[in-house]
Amino acid sequence: MNNFDFIIIGAGSAGCVLADKLSASGEYQVCLLEAGPKDSHWSIHMPLGVIELMRDKVRNWQYHSSPEISQNNREIFNPRGKTLGGSSSINAMLYTRGQKEDYDHWRDLGNKGWGFDDVLPYFKRTQHQERGECEFHGINGPLNVADSRAKPPVHDDFMLSAQQAGFPLNDDFNGDSQEGIGYYQMTQINGQRCSAAKAFLTPNLGRSNLTVITGAHVQNILIDKNKKATGVCYKANGKKQNIFAKKEVLLSAGAFNSPQILMLSGIGPKEELMKHNIPLKHELSGVGENLQDHPDTIVVTHHNRTDIFALRPKSIWWTAKQALKYFSTDKKLRSGIFTSAVAESGGFIKSKPNLSRPDIQLHFIPAAFDDHGRNFKMLMNYGISVHACLLRPKSRGSVTLYGGEPSLHPKITLNMLQDEDDQKDMIQAVKIARSILAQPPLSDHNGKEIFPGEETQSDEEILEFLKNKTNTIYHPVGTCKMGSDDLAVVDSELKVHGIKSLRVIDASIMPTLISGNTNAPTIMIAAKIADNILAQHA
Ligand SMILES: Cc1cc2nc3c(=O)[nH]c(=O)nc-3n(C[C@H](O)[C@H](O)[C@H](O)COP(=O)(O)OP(=O)(O)OC[C@H]3O[C@@H](n4cnc5c(N)ncnc54)[C@H](O)[C@@H]3O)c2cc1C
Repeated sequence: MNNFDFIIIGAGSAGCVLADKLSASGEYQVCLLEAGPKDSHWSIHMPLGVIELMRDKVRNWQYHSSPEISQNNREIFNPRGKTLGGSSSINAMLYTRGQKEDYDHWRDLGNKGWGFDDVLPYFKRTQHQERGECEFHGINGPLNVADSRAKPPVHDDFMLSAQQAGFPLNDDFNGDSQEGIGYYQMTQINGQRCSAAKAFLTPNLGRSNLTVITGAHVQNILIDKNKKATGVCYKANGKKQNIFAKKEVLLSAGAFNSPQILMLSGIGPKEELMKHNIPLKHELSGVGENLQDHPDTIVVTHHNRTDIFALRPKSIWWTAKQALKYFSTDKKLRSGIFTSAVAESGGFIKSKPNLSRPDIQLHFIPAAFDDHGRNFKMLMNYGISVHACLLRPKSRGSVTLYGGEPSLHPKITLNMLQDEDDQKDMIQAVKIARSILAQPPLSDHNGKEIFPGEETQSDEEILEFLKNKTNTIYHPVGTCKMGSDDLAVVDSELKVHGIKSLRVIDASIMPTLISGNTNAPTIMIAAKIADNILAQHA
Protein backbone atom coordinates (compact mmCIF):
# COMPACT_ATOMS: atom_id res chain seq x y z
CA MET A 1 0.00 0.00 0.00
CA ASN A 2 1.48 3.36 -0.90
CA ASN A 3 -1.52 5.71 -0.70
CA PHE A 4 -2.60 7.28 2.56
CA ASP A 5 -4.73 10.20 3.64
CA PHE A 6 -2.04 11.62 5.90
CA ILE A 7 1.69 10.95 5.98
CA ILE A 8 3.48 12.02 9.17
CA ILE A 9 7.27 12.40 9.01
CA GLY A 10 8.90 11.66 12.37
CA ALA A 11 7.48 9.68 15.32
CA GLY A 12 8.64 12.11 18.00
CA SER A 13 6.72 14.08 20.62
CA ALA A 14 4.54 15.72 17.97
CA GLY A 15 4.35 12.85 15.45
CA CYS A 16 3.02 10.32 17.98
CA VAL A 17 0.21 12.67 19.04
CA LEU A 18 -0.74 13.30 15.41
CA ALA A 19 -0.73 9.58 14.62
CA ASP A 20 -3.06 8.91 17.54
CA LYS A 21 -5.51 11.71 16.92
CA LEU A 22 -5.73 11.40 13.12
CA SER A 23 -6.22 7.64 13.19
CA ALA A 24 -8.64 7.58 16.14
CA SER A 25 -11.88 7.75 14.18
CA GLY A 26 -10.85 4.98 11.78
CA GLU A 27 -11.92 7.21 8.90
CA TYR A 28 -8.44 8.08 7.61
CA GLN A 29 -5.49 5.99 6.49
CA VAL A 30 -2.47 7.35 8.35
CA CYS A 31 1.19 6.51 7.78
CA LEU A 32 3.86 7.40 10.35
CA LEU A 33 7.48 7.29 9.14
CA GLU A 34 10.37 7.11 11.60
CA ALA A 35 14.08 6.95 10.74
CA GLY A 36 15.02 5.17 13.96
CA PRO A 37 14.15 1.73 15.34
CA LYS A 38 11.31 0.64 17.64
CA ASP A 39 11.49 1.84 21.25
CA SER A 40 12.07 -1.56 22.83
CA HIS A 41 15.54 -1.01 24.39
CA TRP A 42 15.69 -1.15 28.25
CA SER A 43 17.50 2.20 28.43
CA ILE A 44 14.40 4.01 27.15
CA HIS A 45 12.05 2.61 29.77
CA MET A 46 14.25 2.61 32.87
CA PRO A 47 14.65 6.33 33.67
CA LEU A 48 18.32 6.17 34.71
CA GLY A 49 18.97 4.71 31.24
CA VAL A 50 19.07 8.36 30.15
CA ILE A 51 22.82 8.26 30.90
CA GLU A 52 23.25 5.36 28.47
CA LEU A 53 21.05 7.08 25.86
CA MET A 54 23.41 10.07 25.75
CA ARG A 55 26.10 7.74 24.38
CA ASP A 56 23.78 5.59 22.25
CA LYS A 57 24.56 5.80 18.54
CA VAL A 58 21.43 3.96 17.37
CA ARG A 59 18.64 5.77 19.22
CA ASN A 60 20.31 9.19 19.34
CA TRP A 61 21.24 11.24 16.26
CA GLN A 62 24.35 12.47 18.13
CA TYR A 63 24.46 15.86 16.44
CA HIS A 64 27.15 18.45 17.08
CA SER A 65 27.06 22.10 16.18
CA SER A 66 29.61 23.43 13.73
CA PRO A 67 32.56 25.11 15.55
CA GLU A 68 30.98 27.94 17.56
CA ILE A 69 32.86 31.23 17.19
CA SER A 70 31.19 32.62 20.33
CA GLN A 71 32.20 29.47 22.23
CA ASN A 72 35.94 29.28 21.60
CA ASN A 73 35.28 27.13 18.51
CA ARG A 74 33.78 24.24 20.42
CA GLU A 75 31.49 21.80 18.57
CA ILE A 76 28.59 21.51 20.97
CA PHE A 77 26.86 18.18 21.53
CA ASN A 78 23.16 18.16 20.55
CA PRO A 79 21.50 14.83 21.36
CA ARG A 80 18.17 14.09 19.62
CA GLY A 81 15.98 11.02 19.85
CA LYS A 82 15.94 8.63 16.88
CA THR A 83 13.32 6.03 17.75
CA LEU A 84 9.57 5.83 18.33
CA GLY A 85 8.88 8.70 20.73
CA GLY A 86 11.76 10.75 19.28
CA SER A 87 13.40 13.00 21.85
CA SER A 88 10.69 12.16 24.39
CA SER A 89 12.23 8.66 24.46
CA ILE A 90 15.67 9.96 25.47
CA ASN A 91 14.81 13.10 27.43
CA ALA A 92 14.98 13.83 31.15
CA MET A 93 11.18 13.46 31.57
CA LEU A 94 10.59 16.80 33.33
CA TYR A 95 7.04 18.00 32.79
CA THR A 96 6.96 21.79 32.44
CA ARG A 97 4.93 24.12 30.26
CA GLY A 98 6.65 27.48 30.46
CA GLN A 99 4.97 30.73 31.44
CA LYS A 100 1.58 32.19 30.54
CA GLU A 101 3.39 35.22 29.05
CA ASP A 102 5.26 32.97 26.54
CA TYR A 103 2.04 32.02 24.78
CA ASP A 104 0.44 35.44 25.13
CA HIS A 105 3.57 36.73 23.37
CA TRP A 106 3.04 34.28 20.49
CA ARG A 107 -0.54 35.55 20.19
CA ASP A 108 0.61 39.19 20.36
CA LEU A 109 3.03 38.50 17.48
CA GLY A 110 -0.11 37.91 15.38
CA ASN A 111 -0.60 34.17 15.87
CA LYS A 112 -4.31 33.95 16.53
CA GLY A 113 -5.38 31.09 18.77
CA TRP A 114 -2.03 30.63 20.55
CA GLY A 115 -2.53 32.72 23.72
CA PHE A 116 -2.29 30.93 27.07
CA ASP A 117 -6.06 30.64 27.45
CA ASP A 118 -6.19 28.99 24.01
CA VAL A 119 -3.45 26.44 24.72
CA LEU A 120 -4.20 25.56 28.37
CA PRO A 121 -7.08 23.21 27.43
CA TYR A 122 -4.65 21.19 25.26
CA PHE A 123 -2.10 20.88 28.07
CA LYS A 124 -4.92 19.63 30.29
CA ARG A 125 -6.48 17.30 27.72
CA THR A 126 -3.22 15.56 26.85
CA GLN A 127 -2.19 14.82 30.46
CA HIS A 128 -3.17 12.46 33.23
CA GLN A 129 -2.14 14.33 36.36
CA GLU A 130 -1.65 11.76 39.14
CA ARG A 131 -2.27 14.44 41.79
CA GLY A 132 -5.81 14.89 40.44
CA GLU A 133 -7.78 17.43 38.46
CA CYS A 134 -7.75 21.20 39.06
CA GLU A 135 -7.88 24.50 37.19
CA PHE A 136 -4.44 23.82 35.65
CA HIS A 137 -4.40 20.03 35.34
CA GLY A 138 -6.39 17.32 33.58
CA ILE A 139 -6.79 13.63 34.36
CA ASN A 140 -8.17 12.14 31.17
CA GLY A 141 -5.18 12.40 28.81
CA PRO A 142 -2.70 9.67 27.83
CA LEU A 143 0.48 11.44 29.04
CA ASN A 144 1.05 10.35 32.64
CA VAL A 145 2.42 13.11 34.87
CA ALA A 146 3.71 11.85 38.20
CA ASP A 147 5.64 13.02 41.23
CA SER A 148 9.22 11.85 41.28
CA ARG A 149 9.96 8.54 43.00
CA ALA A 150 13.68 9.27 43.25
CA LYS A 151 14.35 11.76 45.99
CA PRO A 152 17.75 11.29 47.63
CA PRO A 153 17.67 13.56 50.72
CA VAL A 154 20.25 15.88 49.17
CA HIS A 155 17.40 17.30 47.02
CA ASP A 156 15.73 18.51 50.22
CA ASP A 157 19.07 20.04 51.25
CA PHE A 158 19.16 21.87 47.91
CA MET A 159 15.72 23.31 48.56
CA LEU A 160 16.61 24.42 52.07
CA SER A 161 19.80 26.06 50.81
CA ALA A 162 17.90 27.79 48.02
CA GLN A 163 15.39 29.11 50.59
CA GLN A 164 18.27 30.36 52.72
CA ALA A 165 19.57 32.14 49.62
CA GLY A 166 16.24 33.94 49.35
CA PHE A 167 14.23 31.89 46.85
CA PRO A 168 10.67 30.78 47.63
CA LEU A 169 9.40 27.20 47.40
CA ASN A 170 6.89 26.11 44.76
CA ASP A 171 5.21 22.69 44.62
CA ASP A 172 3.74 23.09 41.13
CA PHE A 173 5.72 24.84 38.38
CA ASN A 174 2.69 24.43 36.09
CA GLY A 175 0.21 26.01 38.48
CA ASP A 176 -0.73 29.58 39.18
CA SER A 177 2.88 30.81 39.34
CA GLN A 178 6.03 29.23 37.97
CA GLU A 179 8.42 31.04 40.29
CA GLY A 180 10.27 29.19 43.02
CA ILE A 181 12.26 26.08 43.91
CA GLY A 182 10.85 22.58 44.21
CA TYR A 183 10.53 19.10 42.75
CA TYR A 184 9.72 18.71 39.07
CA GLN A 185 6.90 16.44 38.03
CA MET A 186 7.86 13.69 35.62
CA THR A 187 6.38 12.12 32.49
CA GLN A 188 6.56 8.68 34.09
CA ILE A 189 4.19 5.86 34.86
CA ASN A 190 4.90 3.27 37.55
CA GLY A 191 8.45 4.58 37.85
CA GLN A 192 9.19 4.18 34.12
CA ARG A 193 9.40 6.66 31.24
CA CYS A 194 6.11 7.73 29.70
CA SER A 195 7.34 8.91 26.30
CA ALA A 196 5.03 10.30 23.63
CA ALA A 197 5.21 6.84 22.02
CA LYS A 198 4.20 5.04 25.21
CA ALA A 199 1.36 7.49 25.83
CA PHE A 200 -0.03 8.10 22.34
CA LEU A 201 1.28 5.40 19.99
CA THR A 202 1.87 2.02 21.65
CA PRO A 203 -1.75 1.61 22.83
CA ASN A 204 -2.96 2.29 19.25
CA LEU A 205 -0.56 0.17 17.19
CA GLY A 206 -3.36 -2.32 16.55
CA ARG A 207 -5.47 0.16 14.58
CA SER A 208 -5.86 -1.19 11.04
CA ASN A 209 -5.79 2.31 9.56
CA LEU A 210 -2.45 3.23 11.19
CA THR A 211 0.75 2.14 9.43
CA VAL A 212 3.99 2.74 11.34
CA ILE A 213 7.23 2.23 9.43
CA THR A 214 10.48 2.35 11.42
CA GLY A 215 13.93 2.49 9.81
CA ALA A 216 12.41 4.80 7.17
CA HIS A 217 14.73 7.74 6.55
CA VAL A 218 12.79 10.45 4.72
CA GLN A 219 14.79 11.89 1.83
CA ASN A 220 12.43 14.61 0.67
CA ILE A 221 8.81 15.64 0.29
CA LEU A 222 7.32 15.33 -3.19
CA ILE A 223 6.09 18.72 -4.44
CA ASP A 224 4.22 18.98 -7.75
CA LYS A 225 4.31 21.86 -10.22
CA ASN A 226 1.31 23.50 -8.53
CA LYS A 227 3.34 23.74 -5.33
CA LYS A 228 1.31 21.02 -3.63
CA ALA A 229 2.84 18.36 -1.40
CA THR A 230 1.75 15.01 -2.83
CA GLY A 231 3.86 12.49 -0.96
CA VAL A 232 7.18 11.51 0.52
CA CYS A 233 10.30 9.70 -0.63
CA TYR A 234 11.96 7.61 2.07
CA LYS A 235 14.83 5.15 2.19
CA ALA A 236 14.54 1.86 4.08
CA ASN A 237 16.86 -1.16 3.88
CA GLY A 238 18.93 0.69 1.28
CA LYS A 239 15.99 1.20 -1.12
CA LYS A 240 14.15 4.40 -1.94
CA GLN A 241 10.38 4.34 -2.04
CA ASN A 242 7.66 6.91 -2.77
CA ILE A 243 4.36 7.00 -0.91
CA PHE A 244 1.50 9.41 -1.53
CA ALA A 245 -0.82 11.54 0.61
CA LYS A 246 -4.37 12.21 -0.56
CA LYS A 247 -4.91 14.93 2.03
CA GLU A 248 -1.74 16.26 3.69
CA VAL A 249 1.92 15.67 4.47
CA LEU A 250 2.73 16.57 8.09
CA LEU A 251 6.38 17.26 8.86
CA SER A 252 7.31 16.52 12.50
CA ALA A 253 11.01 15.73 12.30
CA GLY A 254 12.07 18.20 15.02
CA ALA A 255 13.83 21.56 15.08
CA PHE A 256 16.97 20.32 13.28
CA ASN A 257 15.52 17.85 10.79
CA SER A 258 12.30 19.60 9.75
CA PRO A 259 14.16 22.56 8.18
CA GLN A 260 16.70 20.12 6.69
CA ILE A 261 13.92 18.09 5.04
CA LEU A 262 12.22 21.25 3.72
CA MET A 263 15.50 22.37 2.15
CA LEU A 264 16.15 18.91 0.67
CA SER A 265 12.66 19.21 -0.87
CA GLY A 266 13.51 22.52 -2.53
CA ILE A 267 11.80 24.79 0.04
CA GLY A 268 14.06 27.31 1.73
CA PRO A 269 16.54 30.15 1.25
CA LYS A 270 17.44 30.39 -2.45
CA GLU A 271 21.23 30.84 -1.97
CA GLU A 272 21.48 27.90 0.41
CA LEU A 273 19.69 25.58 -2.04
CA MET A 274 21.76 26.83 -5.00
CA LYS A 275 24.97 26.22 -3.02
CA HIS A 276 24.03 22.54 -2.77
CA ASN A 277 22.50 22.16 -6.27
CA ILE A 278 19.01 21.51 -4.94
CA PRO A 279 16.35 22.61 -7.46
CA LEU A 280 14.29 25.44 -5.96
CA LYS A 281 10.58 24.62 -5.65
CA HIS A 282 9.63 27.52 -3.43
CA GLU A 283 11.70 30.26 -1.87
CA LEU A 284 11.20 30.69 1.90
CA SER A 285 14.08 32.57 3.46
CA GLY A 286 13.16 31.73 7.06
CA VAL A 287 13.64 27.97 6.77
CA GLY A 288 16.39 27.07 9.27
CA GLU A 289 16.71 30.62 10.64
CA ASN A 290 15.72 31.81 14.13
CA LEU A 291 17.26 28.83 15.97
CA GLN A 292 16.94 29.30 19.74
CA ASP A 293 17.93 27.10 22.65
CA HIS A 294 18.49 27.50 26.38
CA PRO A 295 22.20 28.09 27.07
CA ASP A 296 23.13 26.12 30.16
CA THR A 297 26.06 26.11 32.51
CA ILE A 298 26.92 24.05 35.52
CA VAL A 299 28.46 24.69 38.92
CA VAL A 300 29.90 21.49 40.41
CA THR A 301 31.37 20.88 43.83
CA HIS A 302 32.74 17.98 45.84
CA HIS A 303 30.24 16.86 48.48
CA ASN A 304 30.72 14.45 51.34
CA ARG A 305 27.27 12.84 51.56
CA THR A 306 27.47 9.26 50.31
CA ASP A 307 23.75 8.74 49.63
CA ILE A 308 24.13 10.38 46.23
CA PHE A 309 24.97 9.03 42.79
CA ALA A 310 28.66 8.17 42.30
CA LEU A 311 30.77 5.43 40.79
CA ARG A 312 32.72 4.70 44.01
CA PRO A 313 33.52 1.38 45.70
CA LYS A 314 31.75 2.73 48.81
CA SER A 315 28.57 3.26 46.75
CA ILE A 316 28.15 -0.39 45.79
CA TRP A 317 25.95 -1.19 48.80
CA TRP A 318 23.86 1.99 48.38
CA THR A 319 23.40 1.28 44.63
CA ALA A 320 22.43 -2.34 45.34
CA LYS A 321 19.71 -1.15 47.72
CA GLN A 322 18.48 1.29 45.06
CA ALA A 323 18.42 -1.52 42.48
CA LEU A 324 16.25 -3.63 44.80
CA LYS A 325 13.75 -0.78 45.04
CA TYR A 326 13.48 -0.73 41.25
CA PHE A 327 13.72 -4.39 40.26
CA SER A 328 12.28 -6.51 43.01
CA THR A 329 9.09 -4.80 44.12
CA ASP A 330 5.61 -4.65 42.67
CA LYS A 331 5.97 -2.45 39.54
CA LYS A 332 3.51 0.03 41.04
CA LEU A 333 5.96 0.52 43.92
CA ARG A 334 9.11 0.99 41.85
CA SER A 335 11.27 3.74 43.35
CA GLY A 336 14.85 4.76 44.03
CA ILE A 337 17.64 6.13 41.89
CA PHE A 338 16.88 3.85 38.91
CA THR A 339 13.59 5.76 38.45
CA SER A 340 15.62 8.96 38.28
CA ALA A 341 16.46 10.96 35.18
CA VAL A 342 19.07 12.76 37.32
CA ALA A 343 17.47 16.20 37.76
CA GLU A 344 14.40 15.83 39.96
CA SER A 345 14.58 19.21 41.67
CA GLY A 346 15.29 22.74 40.52
CA GLY A 347 13.24 25.79 39.87
CA PHE A 348 12.56 29.07 38.13
CA ILE A 349 14.09 32.23 39.53
CA LYS A 350 14.76 35.86 38.66
CA SER A 351 18.31 36.99 37.95
CA LYS A 352 17.35 40.47 39.21
CA PRO A 353 14.68 41.19 41.83
CA ASN A 354 12.98 43.85 39.69
CA LEU A 355 12.06 41.39 36.89
CA SER A 356 8.37 40.60 36.46
CA ARG A 357 8.94 36.86 35.89
CA PRO A 358 11.70 34.23 36.16
CA ASP A 359 14.43 34.32 33.53
CA ILE A 360 16.63 31.51 34.86
CA GLN A 361 15.88 27.82 35.34
CA LEU A 362 17.82 25.57 37.71
CA HIS A 363 18.25 21.79 37.56
CA PHE A 364 19.87 20.19 40.61
CA ILE A 365 21.81 16.95 40.13
CA PRO A 366 22.90 14.73 43.04
CA ALA A 367 26.14 13.81 41.27
CA ALA A 368 29.33 15.42 39.96
CA PHE A 369 28.22 15.94 36.38
CA ASP A 370 30.23 16.89 33.30
CA ASP A 371 29.96 16.51 29.52
CA HIS A 372 26.24 15.55 29.54
CA GLY A 373 26.92 12.73 32.02
CA ARG A 374 29.32 11.09 29.56
CA ASN A 375 32.43 11.89 31.63
CA PHE A 376 32.43 8.82 33.87
CA LYS A 377 35.70 9.93 35.50
CA MET A 378 33.84 12.84 37.09
CA LEU A 379 31.26 10.45 38.53
CA MET A 380 34.09 8.83 40.53
CA ASN A 381 33.82 11.85 42.85
CA TYR A 382 31.10 12.35 45.40
CA GLY A 383 29.70 15.64 44.22
CA ILE A 384 26.65 17.73 43.39
CA SER A 385 25.86 19.99 40.44
CA VAL A 386 23.60 22.95 39.84
CA HIS A 387 22.65 23.57 36.21
CA ALA A 388 21.55 27.12 35.41
CA CYS A 389 20.06 28.06 32.07
CA LEU A 390 18.75 31.25 30.54
CA LEU A 391 15.05 31.00 29.70
CA ARG A 392 14.67 33.64 26.97
CA PRO A 393 18.04 34.15 25.32
CA LYS A 394 18.46 36.86 22.70
CA SER A 395 21.13 35.06 20.63
CA ARG A 396 19.88 33.39 17.45
CA GLY A 397 21.42 30.58 15.40
CA SER A 398 20.51 28.66 12.26
CA VAL A 399 20.20 25.26 10.62
CA THR A 400 21.67 25.00 7.13
CA LEU A 401 23.05 22.13 5.04
CA TYR A 402 26.45 20.48 4.70
CA GLY A 403 25.22 19.18 1.35
CA GLY A 404 22.24 17.91 -0.63
CA GLU A 405 22.61 14.29 0.52
CA PRO A 406 19.91 13.36 3.11
CA SER A 407 22.32 11.11 5.04
CA LEU A 408 24.42 14.15 6.05
CA HIS A 409 23.78 15.73 9.43
CA PRO A 410 22.19 19.20 9.31
CA LYS A 411 24.63 22.05 9.89
CA ILE A 412 23.77 23.55 13.28
CA THR A 413 25.06 26.99 14.27
CA LEU A 414 23.91 27.98 17.76
CA ASN A 415 25.71 31.34 18.20
CA MET A 416 25.26 30.69 21.90
CA LEU A 417 25.93 33.69 24.17
CA GLN A 418 26.71 35.83 21.13
CA ASP A 419 24.45 38.53 22.56
CA GLU A 420 26.04 40.60 25.33
CA ASP A 421 22.89 40.59 27.46
CA ASP A 422 22.91 36.79 27.38
CA GLN A 423 26.52 36.84 28.57
CA LYS A 424 25.68 39.16 31.47
CA ASP A 425 22.65 37.11 32.51
CA MET A 426 24.61 33.87 32.43
CA ILE A 427 27.39 35.37 34.57
CA GLN A 428 24.66 36.29 37.04
CA ALA A 429 23.26 32.72 36.80
CA VAL A 430 26.64 31.29 37.84
CA LYS A 431 26.75 33.67 40.81
CA ILE A 432 23.24 32.62 41.88
CA ALA A 433 24.08 28.91 41.65
CA ARG A 434 27.14 29.57 43.80
CA SER A 435 25.08 31.58 46.29
CA ILE A 436 22.79 28.58 46.82
CA LEU A 437 25.69 26.17 47.23
CA ALA A 438 27.18 28.53 49.83
CA GLN A 439 24.18 28.14 52.15
CA PRO A 440 23.59 25.37 54.72
CA PRO A 441 22.75 22.53 54.74
CA LEU A 442 24.56 22.01 51.39
CA SER A 443 27.55 24.10 52.47
CA ASP A 444 28.03 21.85 55.54
CA HIS A 445 28.88 18.97 53.20
CA ASN A 446 30.56 20.75 50.31
CA GLY A 447 34.24 20.36 49.51
CA LYS A 448 36.22 22.17 46.86
CA GLU A 449 34.40 23.64 43.86
CA ILE A 450 35.22 21.69 40.68
CA PHE A 451 33.54 23.98 38.09
CA PRO A 452 34.04 26.86 37.47
CA GLY A 453 36.74 26.43 40.18
CA GLU A 454 37.56 28.74 43.07
CA GLU A 455 40.14 30.67 41.04
CA THR A 456 37.34 31.83 38.66
CA GLN A 457 35.88 34.92 40.34
CA SER A 458 35.79 38.08 38.19
CA ASP A 459 33.11 38.58 35.54
CA GLU A 460 35.81 38.24 32.85
CA GLU A 461 36.96 34.93 34.30
CA ILE A 462 33.40 33.63 34.57
CA LEU A 463 32.70 34.66 30.97
CA GLU A 464 35.77 32.76 29.79
CA PHE A 465 34.55 29.72 31.76
CA LEU A 466 31.14 30.09 30.07
CA LYS A 467 32.78 30.14 26.64
CA ASN A 468 34.57 26.90 27.45
CA LYS A 469 31.76 25.12 29.20
CA THR A 470 28.28 26.30 28.19
CA ASN A 471 26.04 23.75 26.52
CA THR A 472 22.39 23.81 25.60
CA ILE A 473 19.79 22.03 27.68
CA TYR A 474 18.40 20.33 24.55
CA HIS A 475 15.46 22.58 23.68
CA PRO A 476 16.03 23.74 20.09
CA VAL A 477 13.04 25.56 18.57
CA GLY A 478 12.14 28.25 16.07
CA THR A 479 13.65 27.03 12.79
CA CYS A 480 10.30 26.84 10.94
CA LYS A 481 8.65 29.58 12.90
CA MET A 482 4.97 30.40 12.89
CA GLY A 483 4.01 33.92 11.84
CA SER A 484 3.50 36.24 8.93
CA ASP A 485 6.79 38.20 8.79
CA ASP A 486 9.66 37.63 6.35
CA LEU A 487 11.21 34.83 8.40
CA ALA A 488 7.94 32.98 9.05
CA VAL A 489 7.73 29.49 7.55
CA VAL A 490 4.22 28.47 8.64
CA ASP A 491 1.00 30.33 9.41
CA SER A 492 -0.97 30.02 12.63
CA GLU A 493 -2.52 26.75 11.38
CA LEU A 494 1.05 25.56 10.80
CA LYS A 495 0.56 25.39 7.02
CA VAL A 496 3.77 26.08 5.09
CA HIS A 497 3.55 29.50 3.43
CA GLY A 498 3.17 29.11 -0.34
CA ILE A 499 2.85 25.30 -0.40
CA LYS A 500 -0.44 23.41 -0.38
CA SER A 501 -1.16 20.32 1.74
CA LEU A 502 1.98 20.63 3.83
CA ARG A 503 2.28 21.56 7.51
CA VAL A 504 5.18 21.59 9.93
CA ILE A 505 4.06 20.45 13.38
CA ASP A 506 6.79 20.18 16.03
CA ALA A 507 9.06 22.29 18.25
CA SER A 508 10.45 24.10 15.20
CA ILE A 509 7.29 26.19 14.80
CA MET A 510 7.67 28.06 18.11
CA PRO A 511 8.34 31.68 17.16
CA THR A 512 10.11 32.25 20.48
CA LEU A 513 11.44 29.80 23.03
CA ILE A 514 9.13 29.09 25.95
CA SER A 515 10.43 29.52 29.51
CA GLY A 516 10.81 25.85 30.41
CA ASN A 517 11.41 22.37 29.03
CA THR A 518 9.82 21.83 25.64
CA ASN A 519 8.29 18.34 25.52
CA ALA A 520 4.83 19.16 26.94
CA PRO A 521 4.55 22.33 24.79
CA THR A 522 5.36 20.29 21.65
CA ILE A 523 2.71 17.72 22.57
CA MET A 524 0.25 20.58 23.14
CA ILE A 525 1.07 22.02 19.70
CA ALA A 526 0.40 18.70 17.95
CA ALA A 527 -2.85 18.06 19.85
CA LYS A 528 -4.16 21.51 19.01
CA ILE A 529 -3.34 21.31 15.32
CA ALA A 530 -4.70 17.76 15.03
CA ASP A 531 -8.11 19.14 16.02
CA ASN A 532 -7.70 21.84 13.43
CA ILE A 533 -6.80 19.29 10.72
CA LEU A 534 -9.74 17.05 11.61
CA ALA A 535 -12.13 20.01 11.55
CA GLN A 536 -10.80 21.12 8.16
CA HIS A 537 -11.27 17.72 6.55
CA ALA A 538 -14.56 16.85 8.24
C1 LIG B 1 18.59 14.69 26.08
C2 LIG B 1 17.32 15.49 26.08
C3 LIG B 1 16.73 15.84 27.30
C4 LIG B 1 15.54 16.57 27.30
N1 LIG B 1 14.90 16.75 28.49
C5 LIG B 1 13.64 17.26 28.48
C6 LIG B 1 12.86 17.27 29.65
O1 LIG B 1 13.25 16.77 30.70
N2 LIG B 1 11.60 17.81 29.59
C7 LIG B 1 11.12 18.35 28.45
O2 LIG B 1 9.99 18.88 28.47
N3 LIG B 1 11.85 18.36 27.32
C8 LIG B 1 13.07 17.78 27.30
N4 LIG B 1 13.78 17.70 26.13
C9 LIG B 1 13.22 18.33 24.92
C10 LIG B 1 12.02 17.59 24.33
O3 LIG B 1 12.17 16.20 24.44
C11 LIG B 1 11.86 18.01 22.87
O4 LIG B 1 11.66 19.42 22.81
C12 LIG B 1 10.70 17.36 22.15
O5 LIG B 1 10.75 15.97 22.30
C13 LIG B 1 10.73 17.75 20.67
O6 LIG B 1 9.69 17.09 19.99
P1 LIG B 1 9.63 17.12 18.38
O7 LIG B 1 8.41 16.38 18.02
O8 LIG B 1 9.77 18.51 17.93
O9 LIG B 1 10.94 16.36 17.90
P2 LIG B 1 11.46 14.90 18.26
O10 LIG B 1 10.77 14.37 19.45
O11 LIG B 1 12.94 14.99 18.29
O12 LIG B 1 10.97 14.02 17.03
C14 LIG B 1 11.49 14.07 15.74
C15 LIG B 1 11.42 12.66 15.17
O13 LIG B 1 11.64 12.74 13.77
C16 LIG B 1 12.51 11.69 13.38
N5 LIG B 1 13.21 12.10 12.16
C17 LIG B 1 14.08 13.11 12.01
N6 LIG B 1 14.51 13.15 10.72
C18 LIG B 1 13.88 12.16 10.06
C19 LIG B 1 13.92 11.70 8.72
N7 LIG B 1 14.70 12.27 7.78
N8 LIG B 1 13.13 10.64 8.39
C20 LIG B 1 12.32 10.03 9.30
N9 LIG B 1 12.28 10.42 10.60
C21 LIG B 1 13.05 11.49 10.97
C22 LIG B 1 13.44 11.57 14.58
O14 LIG B 1 14.14 10.34 14.58
C23 LIG B 1 12.49 11.74 15.74
O15 LIG B 1 11.91 10.52 16.14
C24 LIG B 1 14.97 17.00 26.08
C25 LIG B 1 15.57 16.65 24.87
C26 LIG B 1 16.72 15.89 24.86
C27 LIG B 1 17.33 15.50 23.54
